[in-house]
Amino acid sequence: MNWLMSAEVYNTILIGSFVYAAFILVGAFLSRAPYGRFGAEGRGLSLSPRLGWFLMELPATLSFLWFYLHGKNAGELVPMIFLGVWLIHYANRGFLFPLFMRVAKGSKGTFGLLVVVAGWLVTTLHGYLNAVFISHLSSHLTADWLTDPRFLIGMAIYVFGFVMNVHSDAIIRNLRSKAEVESGERVYRIPQGGLFRYVTNPSYFTELLSFTGFAIATWSPGALFVLFVSAANLVPRAFQVHQWYLKKFDDYPAERKVLIPWIL
Ligand code: NDP
Repeated sequence: MNWLMSAEVYNTILIGSFVYAAFILVGAFLSRAPYGRFGAEGRGLSLSPRLGWFLMELPATLSFLWFYLHGKNAGELVPMIFLGVWLIHYANRGFLFPLFMRVAKGSKGTFGLLVVVAGWLVTTLHGYLNAVFISHLSSHLTADWLTDPRFLIGMAIYVFGFVMNVHSDAIIRNLRSKAEVESGERVYRIPQGGLFRYVTNPSYFTELLSFTGFAIATWSPGALFVLFVSAANLVPRAFQVHQWYLKKFDDYPAERKVLIPWIL
């Protein structure tokens, strides 16, 4: 596997990844990824959302760990800080988020198997492109980096984005009572409070904010790829979700923007 750690191979895979992400962007504008509110229950090959999310996100943790541990700087302080950030981020997205999500009891799968399989390539690349850069190819992630404005500003943005993402996901989760979930009802309500006062999709906004912060803090092309591919998925979906709310609820707050408070 050593050949995968060389700068030449890394750069080639990086370019290929950006091209792939551009296709994802086009695809996401042309169609709606079949999961959640846009996943038809039991149609085609689909999994329960809990299993789907867990399986799709798993390679991000495994591939990051594998490549990180093979890097020559794996034992250095700054790379280890980013290892910690990565593990906490994906412990939330890949393990806690699916574990706590409220799925109507007895409902059939809504998470398309195709979404999982397409996601595997992306989440494996997430781990590879970030871990190889952080623990092997970068030369700036020394102890001096801890006082660099890019690290300080990037981490501040990351932490704000991550905390508000967890908060926004929690507001959404609590829209369904446990009793409703037990009864097998799949109810949707208008979310209120927090960043939902300003936008329909605060989870997407803060996800993109946290990856922006991570890209600045690591100053890594791999993190830029994660940001780009996440935007390719989430920006088109944010518009689709906004339209869905407008159609479903007559009393949907007219002042809410789609994704970015006061702007978009
Ligand atoms: P959603 O908010 O659409 O769904 C999350 C959960 O909340 C699901 O269980 C869903 O149920 C439920 N839910 C959603 N809306 C309502 C509502 N109005 N009333 C009641 N329950 C509701 O988010 P996503 O699944 O698209 O995303 C989840 C997280 O993952 C976000 O933080 C997002 O940023 C992140 N993400 C990141 C991506 C990336 O590329 N980095 C890609 C996709 C997501 P149901 O399934 O029944 O609809």
